[in-house]
Amino acid sequence: MTSVTSASPERDPGRLTRPRAKQAVKETADAPDALTVGRRVRHVRQEAGRTLGDVAEAVGMSTSALSLIENGKREPRLSVISALAAELDTPLSDLLSTAPPSRRAALEIRLERAQRLPSYEALGLPRVKVSPRLPTEALEALVGMHEAMASARADSAATPEHARRANAQLRERMRAADNYFGDIEEEAGKLLAAIHHPGGPISRAAVDRIAAHLGYKLVHTSDLPGSTRTVTDLHNHRIYLPQPEAGQHDSRSLALHAVGHLILGHQPPADYAEFLSQRVEINYFAAALLMPEHETVDFLRRAKADKDIAIEDLRDAYAVSYETAAHRFTNLATRHLGLPVHFMRISQDGVVYKAYENDGVRFPADPTGAIEGQRVCRSWTARRIFEQPDLSQAYQAYTDTRSGTYWCTAVVDRTKDGLFAVNVGVPYQHVKWMRGRETTERAVSRCPDPSCCNQPPGALAARWSGQAWPSARVHSHLLAAMPPGVFPGVDDTEVYRFLERHASTGV
Ligand SMILES: [Zn+2]
Repeated sequence: MTSVTSASPERDPGRLTRPRAKQAVKETADAPDALTVGRRVRHVRQEAGRTLGDVAEAVGMSTSALSLIENGKREPRLSVISALAAELDTPLSDLLSTAPPSRRAALEIRLERAQRLPSYEALGLPRVKVSPRLPTEALEALVGMHEAMASARADSAATPEHARRANAQLRERMRAADNYFGDIEEEAGKLLAAIHHPGGPISRAAVDRIAAHLGYKLVHTSDLPGSTRTVTDLHNHRIYLPQPEAGQHDSRSLALHAVGHLILGHQPPADYAEFLSQRVEINYFAAALLMPEHETVDFLRRAKADKDIAIEDLRDAYAVSYETAAHRFTNLATRHLGLPVHFMRISQDGVVYKAYENDGVRFPADPTGAIEGQRVCRSWTARRIFEQPDLSQAYQAYTDTRSGTYWCTAVVDRTKDGLFAVNVGVPYQHVKWMRGRETTERAVSRCPDPSCCNQPPGALAARWSGQAWPSARVHSHLLAAMPPGVFPGVDDTEVYRFLERHASTGV
């Protein structure tokens, strides 16, 4: 935002607060910008029936200089505006008003501003000259299109609030479907039939056969772009994966995620919400292949008949991570076993990274309904596990909450980013099917009552309130806006260079 240059332009660039200067023009928060001043000057001059050259000469400046001022391309000094006001016989305040002099002028100003934005320049399109000859209709159409584009950009740019709303909406959809997606199960089932999978865990060789069935080849490489987990070459039909030892991701899952995008017909995401849905879908798709619906349901039904359902058995039977097994359990538990469930992954300090529920458990939420980034109650099993002497053991406990009593089982997941708890829980009336229900661990959670665990104890608060100034560590990944680029967070240049390099070497 430019402001009118006044007589003494000293400013201390090292200061955040502005020095208390005398110039009223500069100090008013809504000082007019050069474009508005210029349009007002032109308006008053034309009303007075004066020509550009005539007025310029009278105030002692060149015609082109006055034209630059009227077009908002030069910031007039206050002394110049005063001279113009005197010459045009109008109050100075009239020329310095922030209101455009007419509707036409307002449109002209909006178009000028829109055309000066870097986002417009990036399109490489010509600037339309905003002259009196431009029909008002054309002016109106251009301004309308610029502003519609800007609002579409704002929608897809996903501010943290957009991201949070998109997350909340997605969770609502998952909840409504009991986290079961029949069409994805069906696609996974068809692929398994196509490769004649005999049942049991999917081997890496089976993943190769799935890719081959689709006409793709899996290629391991050590130079994947840093911003990607896998890259698919749609032209040469290759899926590039990191070296198996490079990441901690199971390369079967990574390959199946990449295959998922192909099978599910994903297009480059139009906005953050679509990006999130695609992530959920490929995760679901990979899990549906790693733990096929029919045999996994049989497995869980037998466990239920024995009143011995355990996530770790599912993990071991299908050679997947505990989190993958726990998540898969939520897909099938309600639909096929009639069990409402909840699931969460939280950091050691209690912050929610992923969560799902259809059993009425109340996750803490912000006003947009988003729960990612919120802190769960200290009494919840997922947090109490960190207080146990042996973090390698699963921990089970009952928790009385305001929405009822739940039984939960949690494990600690060690990652390079720290410790996380992965937690699965069911309401009390369904605990009879679960292994570990004999636990005597119990806790009471009164959250969201602030006196439960959000408010510091009275004596402590009395001593330290007002005496502490912590600097917060921001959970940037949870708050981040959708990064720019067709694929959020991915450096397109890096990816194209990578593909170029590999396409020419043949691998
Ligand atoms: Zn609490």
